[in-house]
Amino acid sequence: MARTGRIGRQPDEGRNGVEPDAQGNVHYSSDPRDFGWVAENVPCQTACPAGTDIPAYILAILQGKYGLSYEINREVNVLPGVLGRICSRPCEDQCRHGWPGNGDPVSICHLKRSAADLKNRGHRLKESLYGPSGKKVAIVGSGPAGIAAAHDLSLMGHDVVVYEREEQPGGMMQYGIPEFRLPREILNEEIHNALRLGVELKTGVTIGTGEGELPLSQLREEYDAVLLATGCMAPTELPLRGDRMGEAVGKTGNVEYGFEFLLDMHRGAEKHVGKKVAVVGAGFTALDCARVARRLGGEDISIHLRTTEEYIPVTRDEIQEAKAENISFLGLRTPVALHSDESGALASVEFIQNRLGGWR
Ligand code: SF4
Repeated sequence: MARTGRIGRQPDEGRNGVEPDAQGNVHYSSDPRDFGWVAENVPCQTACPAGTDIPAYILAILQGKYGLSYEINREVNVLPGVLGRICSRPCEDQCRHGWPGNGDPVSICHLKRSAADLKNRGHRLKESLYGPSGKKVAIVGSGPAGIAAAHDLSLMGHDVVVYEREEQPGGMMQYGIPEFRLPREILNEEIHNALRLGVELKTGVTIGTGEGELPLSQLREEYDAVLLATGCMAPTELPLRGDRMGEAVGKTGNVEYGFEFLLDMHRGAEKHVGKKVAVVGAGFTALDCARVARRLGGEDISIHLRTTEEYIPVTRDEIQEAKAENISFLGLRTPVALHSDESGALASVEFIQNRLGGWR
């Protein structure tokens, strides 16, 4: 069975070597067997949470069609320039070129960044618009989910208003990721492009029942639909011995959660670190905090891991870049207590030694 679609490209722009017909239509299959074929034979695309058509966008780059490559990415992800820098790249773990005996995986993520950066500066985005639906939708939160939903709903003809608590849109991308990993110029341009088709953005508005906040019930009355895309703007608590209420971190001077450290900094607070900085954690936030601490003047910076660096859920590049900044990784240790001096400031962190278990 075949479906015919107009995908908003110029008729001379092919994809996967398949040229549109004389009317400019591209013919897609909707046969379930074909989807099964893709899942089995294009494992990178299957691993991508957005289902990005990776072979097609790499082929477009090979043909020198960076704008087309960007558009192919943008069909399923309105922030290719952002993802080309910060995606955790599950696609590359599944790349067939990385299978045993085949060498290294294709740098799929960096290719996405290439397409975003090398397209013409005057590249005009193509969008397929539906007529006005007459429906109004409120979206709470302007992180990646809120931005993507606002873009897609506006294309469908709905009137969309996005409510954002912070002064700038972008959520964790704007307030959680340091600028050296994600330049704000790239982020803000892609957010602007996602919202440019009539989405109204209201920043500095908190939805809630507190003083000065906008009640959710009011949104439900005023809009045909309300989408909550508030994400998870909260740190993962550090479980410590005898600290059932999770208060030890807040009560110990010079200790704070990495997420709050980055959030405060991006809200404009002046952050200070000492000369010796210990970061507990193994994800992107931990590495970001360590690298920010280096830029704030930290000299002896270490990242403490329960496991070893081979198993932590960040890309190899991130580890290399942290090491190039003279940040050390100390593995097989779990923090169990924070000890303070008489002034309440951190004096030491107590760890227990781990060993790699048989579950690996
Ligand atoms: S880099 Fe990320 S967004 Fe891009 S194809 Fe891979 S998993 Fe998908």
